[in-house]
Amino acid sequence: MSDVLQSLGLRAEESGCFAGEWQRGAGEEMTSIDPSTGRPLARVRGASHEQYDAAVAEAARAFALWRLVPAPLRGQAVRAIAEALRAEKRALGALIARETGKIVPEAEGEVQEMIDVADYAVGLSRQLTGATMPSERPSHRMMEQWHPLGVVGCITAFNFPAAVWAWNALLAAVCGDAVVWKPSEEAPLTAIAVTRIANDVLRSLGHPPIFSLVCGGRDLGERMASDPRIPLVSATGSCGMGRAVGEAVARRLGRSLLELGGNNAVVVLDDADLELATRAVLFGAVGTAGQRCTTTRRLLVQRGVAADLTRRLLAAYARVTIGDPLDASTLMGPLINVRAVASMQEALATARAQGAEVLCGGTRVERDGFFVTPAIVRAPRGLPIAHEETFAPILYVFEIDSIQDAIAMNNEVRQGLSSAVFTRSIAASERFLSAVGSDCGIANVNLGTSGAEIGGAFGGEKDTGGGRESGSDSWKAYMRRQTCTINYGDALPLAQGINFGDA
Ligand code: NAD
Repeated sequence: MSDVLQSLGLRAEESGCFAGEWQRGAGEEMTSIDPSTGRPLARVRGASHEQYDAAVAEAARAFALWRLVPAPLRGQAVRAIAEALRAEKRALGALIARETGKIVPEAEGEVQEMIDVADYAVGLSRQLTGATMPSERPSHRMMEQWHPLGVVGCITAFNFPAAVWAWNALLAAVCGDAVVWKPSEEAPLTAIAVTRIANDVLRSLGHPPIFSLVCGGRDLGERMASDPRIPLVSATGSCGMGRAVGEAVARRLGRSLLELGGNNAVVVLDDADLELATRAVLFGAVGTAGQRCTTTRRLLVQRGVAADLTRRLLAAYARVTIGDPLDASTLMGPLINVRAVASMQEALATARAQGAEVLCGGTRVERDGFFVTPAIVRAPRGLPIAHEETFAPILYVFEIDSIQDAIAMNNEVRQGLSSAVFTRSIAASERFLSAVGSDCGIANVNLGTSGAEIGGAFGGEKDTGGGRESGSDSWKAYMRRQTCTINYGDALPLAQGINFGDA
């Protein structure tokens, strides 16, 4: 592991504060734990509140310069960041695997996602376009334009410790903003490595270091939410965190972009390709040890294939190799910490008490670290615990009668992130995607709930927070829109034909 730290320019004892330059952290000391052993990887001194203030002030200074750089040149800088990430893909992937317990293909996939979004942002840097619209007044022209917004705050969760920053920060960068990042207290090393890579590239090109970093606990996130110097706070995490951040930002009439918890269902109808469905549910429910916001948590399966699909899943689960995330044969690594193990076991005990039957899994694996076996639970309708997001590999299996029934169950939970249907019926799949279908931000046909591409807008409805990040027109969140009307005539006609004391 020390090789990985060294190759990324990290020391065993690290400073978690970048405010124009690296600072000796004066805040809380955090220990980054390897969840596959339970042992410390490194200690990090986080940012104090004074250093938080300095980080925001430095980001504002960098913003004042950066917004003057033409957007396509900002894109060139992001292109260079993408190249640096390509060069560090393996080392950064190994660090993410160590710090979060993700298996290497998923951890390297996360770095690839950063590279993809960087490439996307490079193209975007020449496409930050506004519309023109016809004016109702003679010799007038109307148009809208997009300007950089300012300092963007970014609060991230442990489970995507690098990619979520990239979705926000690299788009914000081409939009002309500076960013202050408050990463998860579970993954400070990844945040330090990413910040170092990105700012080193900017410095080498003569640009200001626009990416500030404040490692620390929720108190720094709370400061950020109520900080009027930050026009946009993008926050990724649990629904409870998002509610607190959303309220604090709204109180000062700021903008928030909330990416919160999910409770995602896969619907499998009688006519589905069960082989496809089994593979998709396995990846969706067990991938990242059930610690993705898009993890498949509920399986809504039509009665005719329920027994067959459950049997296939039980067989597939029995083959899941659990172990060191850096071992090439491992499919499932550990949970993030001991609290996550306890909350999985509590959820399963509650499920049993509420009338569900645990068909497999849910036990703690006897070895160092925070390993569990993934669980499948046969659930009676309306099982209350299945309405909650337990951030662990628990799959609740419900039987449904029809596509209408499945849609109603898909939509009955408070979260609204991702959803999927497996069917060969055009009518059923179109119904699932229609206005009376899934109410989630993501709805898929014949593929699972997790593993979104960066080209689409990512996010969910209801308690998932309503934010959209990454592709499509998500960039607009990081800019301010200005509507401009230009009079190139000699008269001053008023809109709506108003005559205001004219002769
Ligand atoms: P968490 O809510 O515990 O913490 C997330 C971040 O918020 C951390 O940096 C934490 O320090 C900070 N935070 C906590 N309370 C805060 C407050 N009151 N004010 C400001 N900041 C605060 O989440 P976690 O355990 O790290 O991650 C798991 C959760 O994140 C799950 O619910 C998962 O679904 C969600 N998630 C959502 C998405 C998405 O895009 N929708 C992506 C990844 C994770």
